[in-house]
Amino acid sequence: MNHTFLCIEQTNITLIIKIIELTIPFLLGLFASFIIDSTRNKIKNKKNYKFIKTYLRNSILEILPFLKTDYETVKKKIELYPENYYNKNVISAHEGFNANILKSISPSDYYSAFKGDFILLNEIISMIEFISQDMPYNINNDYFQQLNNHLKEKQKTGDKEHIKGCEYCQQIRDVKLNVLEERIKEVKLLEQKIENFIKNN
Ligand SMILES: [Zn+2]
Repeated sequence: MNHTFLCIEQTNITLIIKIIELTIPFLLGLFASFIIDSTRNKIKNKKNYKFIKTYLRNSILEILPFLKTDYETVKKKIELYPENYYNKNVISAHEGFNANILKSISPSDYYSAFKGDFILLNEIISMIEFISQDMPYNINNDYFQQLNNHLKEKQKTGDKEHIKGCEYCQQIRDVKLNVLEERIKEVKLLEQKIENFIKNN
């Protein structure tokens, strides 16, 4: 009776040892792959973190003062037209100013890299995208295109008196001036947001 019991116990122990022997390499493998994954993620986060900060500082923040000057130049140009044709400054297209590169990184990667400042970063990216759709260069071209189309239609091309007296011409002008005013405010706000973001991180 005792002998049989011992035999069963021994079989159990052997079985347990076998199971442990089989499981340990599996567990070690799991642990190793977990370490590799988390290291890989840390490197990725660090890389994203560094890249985003550098990109915001060097490619976006640096352009903002020039962008603001260009909005102001266009504003002055439209305000003075047609009395004085203000064309001293060349308006840049600022083709590098857009959110394409920032949008190529997934939101979840942003979240792992910046945690709490993720919302601020999202706001910054949306603002860059919004402003980039209404650049000074485009507002300027739009204004003169719209005005010239209208003047052509009325057969008043080059007629300064018409532009000053016509309600529609004034309306085109006021809409553009309002948009410019808004964009100047947004550029200032974006500047503050990026500065805060860089300071916090
Ligand atoms: Zn008109």
